[in-house]
Amino acid sequence: MGVIDEVKQRTDIVEVISEYVPLTKAGRTFRALCPFHSEKHPSFFVYPEQQSWHCFGACNSGGDVFSFIMKKQSIDFGDALRLLAQKAGVTIPSRFEQDAGKEEGERLYQVNQAAAQYFHNLLLNSPAGEKARSYLASRGFSLKTITDFQLGFSLNSWEALKQYLMERGYTEGELLTAGLVIEAEAGKTHDRFRNRLMFPIQDIRGRTTGFGARVLDDSLPKYINSPQTPLFDKSSSLYGINLATAAIRQQNMVVIVEGYMDVITAHQNGFNNVVASMGTSVTEKQVGALKRLTKNIALALDADAAGDEASLRCVGYENILDAEVKVIILPRGKDPDNVIKEGAKIWQHLLEGALPVIDYSFNMVTAKLDLTTAKDKSLAVDKLLPIIAEIKDTVRQAHYLQKLARLVKVNERNIEASLRRIKPSQGRRPIKEPKPEAVAHALHPLLSSPIEEYCLALLLQHPELKARYQGPSPEYFENSENREIFIAWQQANNLSSLKDELDSAIWERLDFLITKSLPANQIEQKYTNCVLRLQEKFLRSLEIKREEVLALEAESGGTAAELAKLEEQGIEVSIQLGEVFTQKRRKR
Ligand SMILES: [Zn+2]
Repeated sequence: MGVIDEVKQRTDIVEVISEYVPLTKAGRTFRALCPFHSEKHPSFFVYPEQQSWHCFGACNSGGDVFSFIMKKQSIDFGDALRLLAQKAGVTIPSRFEQDAGKEEGERLYQVNQAAAQYFHNLLLNSPAGEKARSYLASRGFSLKTITDFQLGFSLNSWEALKQYLMERGYTEGELLTAGLVIEAEAGKTHDRFRNRLMFPIQDIRGRTTGFGARVLDDSLPKYINSPQTPLFDKSSSLYGINLATAAIRQQNMVVIVEGYMDVITAHQNGFNNVVASMGTSVTEKQVGALKRLTKNIALALDADAAGDEASLRCVGYENILDAEVKVIILPRGKDPDNVIKEGAKIWQHLLEGALPVIDYSFNMVTAKLDLTTAKDKSLAVDKLLPIIAEIKDTVRQAHYLQKLARLVKVNERNIEASLRRIKPSQGRRPIKEPKPEAVAHALHPLLSSPIEEYCLALLLQHPELKARYQGPSPEYFENSENREIFIAWQQANNLSSLKDELDSAIWERLDFLITKSLPANQIEQKYTNCVLRLQEKFLRSLEIKREEVLALEAESGGTAAELAKLEEQGIEVSIQLGEVFTQKRRKR
């Protein structure tokens, strides 16, 4: 969610406007004397459900909370946003900070790459690296593999890396941020990785984001990783992804293993579509990242680890992927590294025998039960039904319900009835803890506007529409940030000058609209339709607001003149709506 949406979600228009004008509740709305023109009878209304305001008096205009603040304080969108963000406890990076952030990120990639190169050279060339070289030789790794994965060695020293990098112009602060040094007592820092075999972890673009490091003896911990840094997030990293991408695309399949060594051995033996999760279990972020490359995921699981819990997790991945997840069950106590070394054919055989995770669960459960007995039948249902209940895809869910019914020889309808008694999965998932500052603020549903976005995306992606522009009026855009973009588009000659016109807080929204995928043909016709729909939406929303006010006025005995004025405005709106419909009909 972008900062604008976050501010909107945590801001209540009634609360904000009541700080400027005393509001009185009237039906489902709030009313006040208009703060923008002088009047004796209140014609200014706030609509909590739409999170909008409208003045039916001399202004005859309205908008959302941003436009209220802009108008009231005579400030631009960016300042209104910052003012409201501060109230809501949302931090907005400034344009300067955004640029600085980008630059800082570049520096961090560079320092990681310099460290990786340093470790790699030590492994290949230093006398101290001899024990690491002989360890890798004993594991059977070729020089090509060592170079491809840029494996390295860190010296048994507290300062070797730190000195090397600082001599090359990196600051201690940068090394700390990159997680390459640790702050010890009295503010002193020293190298994090010492006397270890180094595995640089790279992102899909081949940039080094962090390191894994293994001891060469029996000391503990056997492995350590970079800490969480601006570049390195363990839960979304996949070891080997940069070297596996092409094979994953080509084979339309990815195999996820657990360890660095498993990946390296697999690649050396020609299984290039293998990557490793960075911990014991795969995360939803990792699955989400892989989804862009392939929907076919197979998990290599240790026979001991492959239990009900793993199955439930896999169904969660299936729901993200909208596809089946397969499992490869490894022989007890063995990892892919062992299996592949024993023989590539054994691994190949395991790959071919990969089972959809739920079929595997069926096998596991039924292997231990005697399904001729009532007791074991109900045990089987107890074990399998919660897994089936997690499946979002209704066709797959029905398939496994049938399978279960046949297995325990019970009427399918009875099983279905039990399924319905199991609560939907969301309740069991851990709920994300809200940020502390958000707790005090009520969260409002976001009123998104797909038509506004569609129309803007068309305009931004098809400059030729500007020439024949007889399109929308700015007020049709009820979301202030959309209105801002539209107004800037009217004034700008090209995208980069458009960007300069806009507050940097809107850039994210702008980028989203510029890259939004759109249909490729009949653009002009689509644009005309879109403008009509936008106009219709605007007029209808105005109509609803006006009718609400009219009902209130009639109830509370408003003066004849006021009623007449509202009626008149209503007639005008309905005439305009009528015109929209005529145009629509003519087009058909
Ligand atoms: Zn007014």
